[in-house]
Amino acid sequence: MTATPAYDPQNIFARILRGELPAHTVYEDDKVIAFLDIMPRCPGHTLVIPRAPARNILDIAPEDLAHVATVAKKVAIAAKAAFAADGITIQQFNEEAGGQVVFHLHVHVIPRHSGEPMKPPASAMEKPEVLAEHAQRLRAALAG
Ligand code: AMP
Repeated sequence: MTATPAYDPQNIFARILRGELPAHTVYEDDKVIAFLDIMPRCPGHTLVIPRAPARNILDIAPEDLAHVATVAKKVAIAAKAAFAADGITIQQFNEEAGGQVVFHLHVHVIPRHSGEPMKPPASAMEKPEVLAEHAQRLRAALAG
């Protein structure tokens, strides 16, 4: 069994949290932010992350995880409406062997349509103007 490495404050999502890198944010509060995945597996693919520096489910405080789950549910309901989705896929990966690539805990919220497969992970970078329009749609659904 491999030991779990320490949290790396230079990971991409920590840099987004500090405002060092841009993101198409759709929701934020004092504990969590949600923003669009730049390589969406389906339109509207959103990531929900805690502000607390947790690597993944192995080290996050249970109360922070609970709040991430609460917000993932809100985003799922909004995404279903905003993208007229038939269903929602939730994914969350832990450590490299578990499929994790960015080592700050995140929950994927992916709107799905019947019969339409997800793109493979990291297959294509979405155009910024498409992401901006999708983020706007999600923000409106979250506000309403
Ligand atoms: P994973 O760690 O396997 O759960 O996946 C990390 C996810 O982060 C992938 O879906 C990437 O497309 C996504 N991603 C990587 N860099 C960024 C970024 N700068 N902004 C938004 N999403 C990102």
